[in-house]
Amino acid sequence: MSKERIGFIGLGMMGLPMARNLIEGGYQVTVFDLDEESMGKAERSGASTSVSASETASKSDIVITMVPDSQHVEAVITGPAGIIEGVKKGSVVIDMSTIDPEIGKKIAELLERKGVNFIDAPVTGGVGGAEAGTLSILVGGNAEIFERTLPVLNVLGGDVSHMGPVGSGHTTKIANQLIGVATLAGMAEAFVLAKKSGLDMQTFFDAVKNGAGRSWALETLGPKILAGDFEPGFMVKHMQKDLRLANQLAEDTGTSLPTSTLIAQLYRSIQADSPDATSQGHQALVQAIEKLSNDQARL
Ligand code: NAD
Repeated sequence: MSKERIGFIGLGMMGLPMARNLIEGGYQVTVFDLDEESMGKAERSGASTSVSASETASKSDIVITMVPDSQHVEAVITGPAGIIEGVKKGSVVIDMSTIDPEIGKKIAELLERKGVNFIDAPVTGGVGGAEAGTLSILVGGNAEIFERTLPVLNVLGGDVSHMGPVGSGHTTKIANQLIGVATLAGMAEAFVLAKKSGLDMQTFFDAVKNGAGRSWALETLGPKILAGDFEPGFMVKHMQKDLRLANQLAEDTGTSLPTSTLIAQLYRSIQADSPDATSQGHQALVQAIEKLSNDQARL
């Protein structure tokens, strides 16, 4: 059986390497992004370009969206010149962005009326995971559609987990973010404390990196903080969005999130620094602790 044709919309930090992996995996990929430069990069990697999400969908059997937030997913799928205008009956739309689960459910209903299936399949694992094709993929949706999309998702990820009906992928991802950000916050405090206490930072990092505090944040973001590298893999503004989504889910479910609420405030203090501050990598959280402590955790 020939491979399903893929549409890929949203060629940012994550989307571009993911689209490239599908091309390398032998898929025919049609792309769309508002950013011409990203479109050019995808085209040079072997993708076909299109002029709208609608055109992308008309040339695809499976359409993937990887854009920032709920409103962008809505614009791309149900807005003017969106997927819903071009998509064929029997196709599947997969949203891999991290967004409000309720928006995913609403979109699923609208697509269903056109005979189109929807699954939510957000990811975790960072830009490194996107490039290596080792993302953890968290899927919500019908089991048969999950099975149909598995060959595609297996190109993009390592662990691909079916979490339940539509919305449960997005919900899983939101809960996951709380683990990652709290780990980062603990690491940021530990680094500043070590620095202020006069420890050698490289020796400190090497000594603790394989101990009980071992984590993705420590391994991936620790060296960046020590080097003063705040280039984004995952931007502060996207983490702020995820903390807002978590707060909404907490409201809806009557859950208390004291730690994450405090971390959201620390990010707000960074946002106050400059208009560009939220385009830094989310490791910039350390800057809030550094300001409060009047020192920097650098080598
Ligand atoms: P990004 O800001 O780097 O890229 C988003 C892309 O979407 C941009 O190229 C932008 O031009 C495009 N876009 C926005 N609106 C569009 C529209 N209406 N039509 C077409 N294209 C549009 O973001 P990213 O870091 O790639 O993240 C994308 C999603 O993945 C977010 O929901 C984020 O939370 C999630 N995520 C990111 C990471 C990470 O490490 N960066 C990891 C896991 C999940």
